Amino acid sequence: MIRILVAEDNAVNRELLRELLEARGYTVSEACDGQEALHMIEQVKPELLLLDIGMPVLDGFAVIQRIRENPRLALLPVVAVTAYAMRGDREKILQSGFDGYLSKPLNPSSLTEELDRLLTKRAQAAGQGHGDQSGRKDQAAGASGSGA
Ligand code: MN
Repeated sequence: MIRILVAEDNAVNRELLRELLEARGYTVSEACDGQEALHMIEQVKPELLLLDIGMPVLDGFAVIQRIRENPRLALLPVVAVTAYAMRGDREKILQSGFDGYLSKPLNPSSLTEELDRLLTKRAQAAGQGHGDQSGRKDQAAGASGSGA
């Protein structure tokens, strides 16, 4: 089971993300602010973090900074989920260490695409040391073989 941590202070958005993710077969954990997000990363050890920018206690920028300062979390893919959609915000977010960016209101197919992209990338990076994860090898071969 792939575990995804949703860090988001808005309960309605958290619930929406949980439903979308569980419908796609992911295991979902939740955090309501940035400090709880950092705590839950250690507890749950998620494969991916969806991180709201505007949150109490620690905002998304503070959280991503602490994650990127931690060598143990170097491979953790982090996607910003935010309504900050003004010109330049996307660049600022990506320069802060996020791997991806989703704007609110959330587009479910963009969410799926972003998760597929980052989890495939992570699986390939993690699989380089031990090559016995069947299925994953086939997926990678198929993906690199088809130009479509
Ligand atoms: Mn928020």
